[in-house]
Amino acid sequence: MRILVTGGAGFIGSALVRHLIRNSGDELLVLDALTYAGTLTALAPVAADPRYRFVRADVRDGAAVAGAIRDFRPDIITHLAAESHVDRSIDGPAAFIDTNVTGTFTLLEAACAYWRGLPLPARAIFRFHHISTDEVFGSLGETGRFTEATAYDPRSPYSASKAASDHLVSAWGHTYGLPVIVTNCSNNYGPYHFPEKMIPLMIVKALAGETLPVYGRGENVRDWLFVEDHVRALQAVFERGTPGRRYNIGGDAERRNIDVVRTLCALLDRLHPRADGASYAAQIGFVADRPGHDRRYAIDATRIRTELGWTPQESFESGLEKTVRWYLANEPWWRPILSERATDQRRGLAGSLSPIFNAL
Ligand code: NAD
Repeated sequence: MRILVTGGAGFIGSALVRHLIRNSGDELLVLDALTYAGTLTALAPVAADPRYRFVRADVRDGAAVAGAIRDFRPDIITHLAAESHVDRSIDGPAAFIDTNVTGTFTLLEAACAYWRGLPLPARAIFRFHHISTDEVFGSLGETGRFTEATAYDPRSPYSASKAASDHLVSAWGHTYGLPVIVTNCSNNYGPYHFPEKMIPLMIVKALAGETLPVYGRGENVRDWLFVEDHVRALQAVFERGTPGRRYNIGGDAERRNIDVVRTLCALLDRLHPRADGASYAAQIGFVADRPGHDRRYAIDATRIRTELGWTPQESFESGLEKTVRWYLANEPWWRPILSERATDQRRGLAGSLSPIFNAL
């Protein structure tokens, strides 16, 4: 198949491209604007493969997107291009509305025009696969999990912009018949993760001897999935999923943030002991919480497991160890990113919410 991957120079998109080049005969076109979050170095392992191509373009640029689609003639569009960092969305929401909402609309328009012009057999194969997040469902209490029927209740500018884009994709399916599929996945971690996100940030700060900044008391719970399990799920969905259907993706790996950081410290103690013999846990420090910080996310992935036969191959412990080993072995990948881009700045404190909103 011919697969156009938007956002393919980012964390999950590049994992998808590396996976498909190594494990399928698919031809791939990556369309990416190369924002601060995108880097061709994440695609270097497959860049020489003749089945891989790259075009630098912005999903908000209708002419560029339509041109790329017309030239490449994809069977599948997987849409991962997005602004993705919650803290940045609090400080500067406009970019999130532009890329996540307007960009998705622009891509849908181009995809729909292309799909309508296809001969019937190609129209039947075509899929528009939109990659989204569990954050659109809001925040859980102590119990319960998000299913595909859970009502949307986004709480941050990031999750609200992703929710809006999910609704647009669904509307293009219902209204124009575009064969769309939406997947909502829990928090990913793994190699090539931009070191502003929690797990890689903690690893590189630990190695630098710096404080490991845990938000609030570290009580917030996330449901973690190794990125390579996510991309195997994406492949199952666009190959075998039903158009118009949604699939939740998650690894049944709920952990409190503080426990994730303690596990990371224990792994580093074993794999790369500190020179003074102390534990990296001594570097843990608690910092001001993120405004509106969602308390708990948890995914019920029964549908994708039973209907498409997908299951994660990594436990949280095995995936985290692979991740730590990768960061230890690949400093030449992340060191230049740290020095080129301002990853160290504390973000996301701009819009402290009033108590009335916290109570809603
Ligand atoms: P990322 O920030 O690492 O990568 C985003 C990519 O999109 C970058 O390569 C960037 O250059 C590109 N991009 C940004 N704006 C663009 C634009 N206007 N035009 C073209 N390209 C643009 O993000 P990620 O973590 O790989 O997430 C990918 C997708 O998966 C996002 O849609 C995100 O919402 C979703 N998602 C992420 C997670 C997670 O834990 N990281 C979990 C569930 C869903």
